Amino acid sequence: MKRTKLRAIVLACIIIFLSGCAKSEQKVETQIFAMDTLMTLSVTGSNAQEACEAVQALIVELDGLWSVTNESSDLWRLNHARGEWVSISRQTLSLWEEASALSSRTEGALNPAIYPVVRAWGFTTGEYRVPQERELAALLEHIDISYVQADTQNTALRIPADMQLDFGAVAKGRAGGLAAELLREMGITSACLNLGGNVQTVGSRPDGTPWRVGLRDPLGEEGDYLAILSVEDQAVVTSGGYQRYFDLDGERYWHILDPESGYPARSGLLSVTVVGPSGTVCDGLSTALFVMGEEQAVEFWRGRADLIRNEEDFDLILVREDGSVVITEGLESRFVLTTGYEDTRVEVVTW
Ligand code: ADP
Ligand code: MG
Repeated sequence: MKRTKLRAIVLACIIIFLSGCAKSEQKVETQIFAMDTLMTLSVTGSNAQEACEAVQALIVELDGLWSVTNESSDLWRLNHARGEWVSISRQTLSLWEEASALSSRTEGALNPAIYPVVRAWGFTTGEYRVPQERELAALLEHIDISYVQADTQNTALRIPADMQLDFGAVAKGRAGGLAAELLREMGITSACLNLGGNVQTVGSRPDGTPWRVGLRDPLGEEGDYLAILSVEDQAVVTSGGYQRYFDLDGERYWHILDPESGYPARSGLLSVTVVGPSGTVCDGLSTALFVMGEEQAVEFWRGRADLIRNEEDFDLILVREDGSVVITEGLESRFVLTTGYEDTRVEVVTW
């Protein structure tokens, strides 16, 4: 009798405790403008408000380090140091190390020193123009990142006076990755961060089902999704010619440049989506594989076991110019075409 009573009391306490948890579980959604883009943070947990604020502060801090226009940023100081050593933050050094490693892995398709060429096309200001071939050739003489020196002991970098770095192709991915890490440390098990098209998920949806990330139709309008991808604890990053471009005399020119020619990369792809646990890897590779094109991208994916540690593994979704899609086998069970796109040809690439 006594035992039953005790059991009943314990059970009642557990129920009160659980309902207490459910009540204090909050879902917080915020938008911020940083890194030149609109970001949406959606966080669920008992400390969601605090966690959301911490993520915002982190992103603002990172933007302050990696902005190419803010005169107090690490990058600005480096780009204006006239060849001298510049003391930078650990975060910046670490991002440089990862970006340069991705650059060599992709044989230069990702090049963090391409900035002056991006600027020559007007992609940084919106004053678009098609530079002369001679102008591009002259700028391409200063993008050899093997001249960058890093001093890990003193946390400093030194670049030649005629070089300028830009982390535009990796910064949002790194910011998403660091934000996810911070959220996990704060005990958050459900969050979805959309950093201007770079999606970073933490855990699953509040109801325990996977996050559903829409894959933009590069031939459609904003809000047209050709497929839905189910993910947990992963980043989903897309690079596409539709993100920033201008049309002139019947030609379209976009913001992802081939470092070999200095011209917009025309590799037969309209978009490249990289899915994996590391935001930085996904971001860097989405840009690089867009430059490389389907054949090299698939070859790179097949060869990834030799190059990439487990936490840096990834899968791919490539959208070709004719609208057909290539996905790598890891995504087969997680990729569903949306209504209206059922007839899209999807090829699955296996290892
Ligand atoms: P977004 O930042 O638009 O989401 P990406 O991650 O693909 O897309 O980054 C594109 C940006 O990276 C460009 O705006 C430009 O500043 C820079 N960039 C363009 N081509 C390259 C390249 N081959 N390697 C490194 N950075 C590049
Ligand atoms: Mg990128």
